[in-house]
Amino acid sequence: MSIDSINPATDGVLAQFDAHDAATVDRKLSETSTAQREWANTPIAERMALLRRVAQTLRAQKAELAPLATLEMGKPLSEALGEVEKCAWNFDFYADAAPGFLADEVVASSATDSRIVYDPIGTVLAVMPWNYPYWQVMRAAAPVLAGGNAMVLKHASNVPQCALALEDIFKRAGAPAGLFTTLLVGSGEVAGLIADPRISAVTFTGSTPAGRQIASQAGQALKKQVLELGGSDPFIVLADADIEAAAAVAVKARFQNTGQSCISAKRFIVEQAVAERFVEAFCAGVRQLVVGDPMQARSTQGSMAKRRLRDELHAQVLASVQQGARLLTGGSPVDGPGAFYAPTVLDHVTPDMVAAQEETFGPAAAILRVADAEEAVRIANATNFGLGAALWTSDLDRAGQLARRIEAGAVFVNGLVASDPRLPFGGIKESGYGRELGKLGLVEFTNTKTVWTGPART
Ligand code: NAP
Repeated sequence: MSIDSINPATDGVLAQFDAHDAATVDRKLSETSTAQREWANTPIAERMALLRRVAQTLRAQKAELAPLATLEMGKPLSEALGEVEKCAWNFDFYADAAPGFLADEVVASSATDSRIVYDPIGTVLAVMPWNYPYWQVMRAAAPVLAGGNAMVLKHASNVPQCALALEDIFKRAGAPAGLFTTLLVGSGEVAGLIADPRISAVTFTGSTPAGRQIASQAGQALKKQVLELGGSDPFIVLADADIEAAAAVAVKARFQNTGQSCISAKRFIVEQAVAERFVEAFCAGVRQLVVGDPMQARSTQGSMAKRRLRDELHAQVLASVQQGARLLTGGSPVDGPGAFYAPTVLDHVTPDMVAAQEETFGPAAAILRVADAEEAVRIANATNFGLGAALWTSDLDRAGQLARRIEAGAVFVNGLVASDPRLPFGGIKESGYGRELGKLGLVEFTNTKTVWTGPART
């Protein structure tokens, strides 16, 4: 089997790799397993020193890493540079914070001493998507490694060069051989990896259908799993919001990463009283987007990652228009090579339409007009997903109350929904379960062990 690296902006083949055969996979898993046992007993200060060296290496290699991501999946180069920086921040963050997160917690009980200790869990299999080819992996890797575990990466098949570059980062940073390893295998090999006794747990980021399969396989093997799946994030704009600020952030929230983010705002739910003003400001911002060669600094929107994904997005847009949505701008693939799609805005979308029901993973925004805040919350929650949500209002007391009623893993008031190493990240409903980042993201992949000690008996 060949794993092909294809530039989605030109359709040109960048590189081809033979998938790892069974013997190579077996050797790599054994090496990782051995490395993990030693790593678990490595003093925490040494573990944190490696995390810091990984951060430094990422920064030092930024000029090589960023264009590779742009070439393999089409994101603007400036965004790829930011992504590498964020990975480095995450490693620095855990290097600082993990010793505190992992410290024993003494809990009062009938014991002489009872405490919670956080032991390593083993080797974590990471099955990852292409949309942030570095961040998705390194978001999970920093806490996993900080906790005394190892990581085996099965990356998306369209970003093999990024996957190998990450393995190389750990080598350059002086990580023990195999502590972080990349397997070049197709998704058909994942079930076997999950079942392998050398794998202790699974972290998966990707689509909901693939998450379902992985969840059942990990469930069958009784292995811990964290699932970060799809989303259809609402972006609620109430009548008392700063409309211009909301519209400016809305453009970024929908179109950054060429619309291919799990926490992109996808449904803009706007109070009728300010809908015209919002739509006008939003469309003005969308018209300023520059679609083009993602390697060029002036391009603010690159190519989508695959032609198939562009076709799927276009079908969703066409279906929504057929159902009565009004197309304000865009609505078509860009002629020529590559998987470019015109930034698209659909107005007068209703909750039953495709653009509101399904995850739209690309540069297409759906605007839903509502009578009031009550209807906004009801529609925001009328989805199978529950990842992020944004709420724009000048009344922070009301925002606090409404935020509690929004079914999502995170609600951002008057701001851009974004992941942050300091804050837990994850979803509910069909957006998955478990948390990444922050302390919760670290303890997910530890054995949270109770140690109960009675009085000394002589
Ligand atoms: P995907 O098709 O589910 O692929 C993700 C990873 O899973 C890839 O490594 C893929 O390998 C593998 N895979 C696919 N089907 C599989 C199966 N049946 N069994 C085992 N592994 C399987 O997702 P994608 O298209 O790359 O990414 C887009 C999706 O990810 C969107 O739904 C997005 O919302 C979601 N996402 C969620 C988050 C989050 O944090 N919640 C973040 C980013 C993206 P191959 O490439 O070899 O098929």
